[in-house]
Amino acid sequence: MKTVFEKSVADRRGVRPCRSDVESSIHLRRNYLRENIAELPELSELDVVRHYTELSRRNFGVDTNFYPLGSCTMKYNPKMTEVIASNEGFANLHPLLPQLRMGGMLTQGALGVLYETDLLLREITGMAGFTMQPMAGSHGELTGIVIMAAYHREKGNRKRKVLIPDSAHGTNPASAAIAGYEVVSVPSNAEGVMDMAALKAAATEDVAGLMLTCPNTLGLYNPHIKEICDIIHGIDGLVYYDGANLNAILGKCRPGDIGFDIVHLNLHKTFATPHGGGGPGSGPVGVVGKLVDYLPVALVVKRDDGTYALEYDRPKSIGYIAPFYGNFGIVLRAYAYILMLGREGLIRVAENAVLNANYVLKKLEGYYDVPYPGVCKHECVLSATRQLKNGISALDVAKGLIDMGYHPPTIYFPLIVKEALMIEPTETESKETLDGFIEAMREIDRLSREDPEKLKSAPQSAPVSRLDETAAARNLNISCC
Ligand SMILES: *Cc1c(COP(=O)(O)O)cnc(C)c1O
Repeated sequence: MKTVFEKSVADRRGVRPCRSDVESSIHLRRNYLRENIAELPELSELDVVRHYTELSRRNFGVDTNFYPLGSCTMKYNPKMTEVIASNEGFANLHPLLPQLRMGGMLTQGALGVLYETDLLLREITGMAGFTMQPMAGSHGELTGIVIMAAYHREKGNRKRKVLIPDSAHGTNPASAAIAGYEVVSVPSNAEGVMDMAALKAAATEDVAGLMLTCPNTLGLYNPHIKEICDIIHGIDGLVYYDGANLNAILGKCRPGDIGFDIVHLNLHKTFATPHGGGGPGSGPVGVVGKLVDYLPVALVVKRDDGTYALEYDRPKSIGYIAPFYGNFGIVLRAYAYILMLGREGLIRVAENAVLNANYVLKKLEGYYDVPYPGVCKHECVLSATRQLKNGISALDVAKGLIDMGYHPPTIYFPLIVKEALMIEPTETESKETLDGFIEAMREIDRLSREDPEKLKSAPQSAPVSRLDETAAARNLNISCC
């Protein structure tokens, strides 16, 4: 596709504004004035509208098609929360506005949102306090591990290792390593959950804690979860809950009741904002009572007179983890979303997320290999090993789906599954949409036997076909088409 510069034709105009007959009151200094006319594209209004509409159509988004990316809930993007976030009173707030002046007219509402969201997330997770500052799930992990380190430092504990299961999201070991810990990988057993004997052997006195995703990235809930927490507490370790995809257990059980000490949530996966696309995220971190003092500054507190304030005087705090107060707009969307759904609605999120994943799994298990059969939670993992016998890999399945109008699931992850296809339908998709996807997956299986070349050359319908993904990531160039 040509750029607007290539489409430009000299002297073509969209609108011709008349020269203003009001004298400008703005007087720029001479050295700020442009000497030569800017070289801008010259196009008609229609050309411009068509250009950008065409560009927007090339974007695959949750507003256009089904997006079953595993481990990265790409649920719908509720328009109601967008309307609330674009409310002028919130959208135009400056983070340096005073907290109380003008009777608190300026920022009390926003501080109230942060405070109330903290209370709601405490109720949802069973934690004693939250920080809203982390800007992503991984940022929340780092915050949580730094809190873990602060706890051990104050107790004089000499700990240097963090245990992480081999099915973990890659950000877990990265966060622990950045915080200065040695990462020890704990293998999974034949059922796809953490091997208890391996955990017991690894849980030595020098272990600071364990990071766990439950249900894990295979969508499996660990039945030994309480015992795991007890083992780690037995060595004065802390247990970290990766709650990026809380939709699996929302309203059903709480990490705090199970025995976890620290939890991060991805508001941009579970609470209204879709994940992906490089947009802003939010990864609040909650902790149990004994860790509240370590939370980053500032915390929003409610004073006796009912006003809200930012509290900086917190001597044990790990300090700043982000400028200002996090991605406020994302927190605001989550707040509105939680209130919109209410207690009953949140419980139904978990029920529908789990139901949808199991529906897809059941309907596809006769067509694809299932490495860990049984009931899954919010996502299911299939394998294309059967299709590979005809030369069709998980990558070919993914590319074939693009031609059928579906975003591919996550592939080759978790690492412990060969030719992994990790599918997360999410709670917000209808049976009709799931049936369409299931049909497409069955068709791909048929093609893998009858017309593998068609899959090998997919996608044919996308603006670009197969990319060198390493080069695309390393030498990103988004301005040329
Ligand atoms: C997405 C995800 C993360 C990381 O979240 P980001 O916001 O992408 O940094 C961590 N753990 C799990 C299980 C995830 O799915």
